Amino acid sequence: MDTFGIDIWSDNNFFIEDGLLKINYKSKPSLISLVKNIRKQNYKGPLLFRFPHLIEKQINRLFDTYNKAIKENSYNGTFNAVFPLKVNQFPTFVQPLIKSGQKHNYGLEAGSKAELFIAMTYNKNAPITVNGFKDKEMIHLGFIAKKMGHNITLIIEGLNELETIVQVAKETNLPCPSIGLRVRLFNSGSGAWAKSGGIDSKFGLSSTEILEAYEMLENNNLCEYLTMIHFHIGSAMNTIKPLKNALKESGHIYAELKNLGAKNLQAINIGGGLAIEYSQFNRTINYSLQEFANDVVFTLKNIARQKNVEEPNIFTESGRFISASSAVLIAPVLELFSAEYEAEHLRLKDVNPPLIEELNDLYKDMKKRTALEYMHDSIDHLESLLKLFDLGYIDLTDRSNAEILANLIIKKAISFLEVDDYEELKRIDNKIQEKYLLNFSIFQSLPDFWGIDQEFPIMPITHLNKKPTRSASLWDITCDSDGEIEFNPNKPLYLHDVDLNKEDYFLGFFQVGAYQDVLGMKHNLFSHPTEVNVNFDKNGEVKLEQIIESQKIIDILEDIDYDTNEIKSILNSKLDDKETYEILEKYLNDNSYLKTTWS
Ligand SMILES: *Cc1c(COP(=O)(O)O)cnc(C)c1O
Repeated sequence: MDTFGIDIWSDNNFFIEDGLLKINYKSKPSLISLVKNIRKQNYKGPLLFRFPHLIEKQINRLFDTYNKAIKENSYNGTFNAVFPLKVNQFPTFVQPLIKSGQKHNYGLEAGSKAELFIAMTYNKNAPITVNGFKDKEMIHLGFIAKKMGHNITLIIEGLNELETIVQVAKETNLPCPSIGLRVRLFNSGSGAWAKSGGIDSKFGLSSTEILEAYEMLENNNLCEYLTMIHFHIGSAMNTIKPLKNALKESGHIYAELKNLGAKNLQAINIGGGLAIEYSQFNRTINYSLQEFANDVVFTLKNIARQKNVEEPNIFTESGRFISASSAVLIAPVLELFSAEYEAEHLRLKDVNPPLIEELNDLYKDMKKRTALEYMHDSIDHLESLLKLFDLGYIDLTDRSNAEILANLIIKKAISFLEVDDYEELKRIDNKIQEKYLLNFSIFQSLPDFWGIDQEFPIMPITHLNKKPTRSASLWDITCDSDGEIEFNPNKPLYLHDVDLNKEDYFLGFFQVGAYQDVLGMKHNLFSHPTEVNVNFDKNGEVKLEQIIESQKIIDILEDIDYDTNEIKSILNSKLDDKETYEILEKYLNDNSYLKTTWS
């Protein structure tokens, strides 16, 4: 049975039982039971489930692993972490995150003023770090946060930011926040975002600038506020080596500054970049979190010993690792394109072109023994018949018959072959693909697939006790030809042959909790899916909470600055009866996703 690589990517968060995909937690409900529950409440279209227990799991794992490494290496520094808000700023994610992180004093990282406002409002007593380019107003916000009592560190990306800090310190009587220096490393990262680190990076101070920064702090009596060295070598590191290089470089910078007299310098912030497994075909990450943590602790310990300075506290800012697994997108399948090719639609004539007669015979006479051969023949015949149509030798009815018969033959052959000769079938995957139309938008819900070819694990949430036999390409409902996940013979996705008139079929897209929400775009004016937080009560039973319905059409139009009153009054003026207008207004208050009886 196909398990869709669940052993590779799911980290035991999900498991298959009785043909259903289930959540490996508390009462272990199936995903389809959650989907049915929501749809009964009349929410149709795509769904985004958030699982707070998976956020908590990752936070615990991060802290437990590092604390273990610290203990085993008798390391004197502490482990601290903040969540980088740019990875997911949505309240339905951030609120459970803050709650789960409290026992570890897990903080927040902000990269813009808007993110800083979230951190200033909702952070409890945990650390806040601030990265990104900062103007005077943003630095002023940092001082105000300090006055509120936050443990906040402004991490400087350039000398001008430090000048602004000096200015704000002089101009206001607000307390000065802690200061961190982001270093521009010579050793750049690996992975798709390597340009975050490295000597030609957009961010950070060169070694000359670090020395200048230290002088500037000294000259302005601000040295006591320098507490942190920071680097971030890029997202989704698939090997550990670039991190080790970056650690050595920044570790020595830390030690050099300590020896220059930076007495309150006490932390190295190693940024984010922990990878998670997106592939459902083979493992792509060649380190474990424990190895990673051990390397960090071990390397920093050695440098501290070598340069005779105290061991720094360790900060991390991993975002993807914490959030990716916590959200799952569920999209209803609306249509299988071959569904239109049913025997009842055949319009055979008294006399048909010879190739059509032959197709008809192949269909009727097919046995298991001849299935593969007949399938090959039917594909050849179809290709010839399509050419004959282009040349004007057969008519539209003949062409329709040819398409239907060829598809019927393929389906019949697959049903003969699926048990024993599956491998044979795979050889002609490309020719016998099925297209699945899904009620969702790739641009809205999987923007990284569209933008950077990011893979996501995909699988049906039911039918898992049946062999999937159709090589599948997935189409969304935007009118854009990029809204497709093509069948890839190197990473083949097989789905089930289902009759949607008789049964539902839903696909799950996993690991979508990092970056996808906020990068999602309203192409064709499809807004976010209906969102639901899946919590569990004391008895372990599911509670579906914080349901946020997909946006209404009228609200989407307002978001892109249409005057919605004007829209309503113009539409109203074009109709002379109130009854029709009321229907129109009801439609305006629906969301954009398709509504069929089953979707
Ligand atoms: C984006 C970013 C992160 C998070 O990176 P992940 O790969 O999601 O862990 C951490 N720190 C900084 C400075 C960032 O810009």
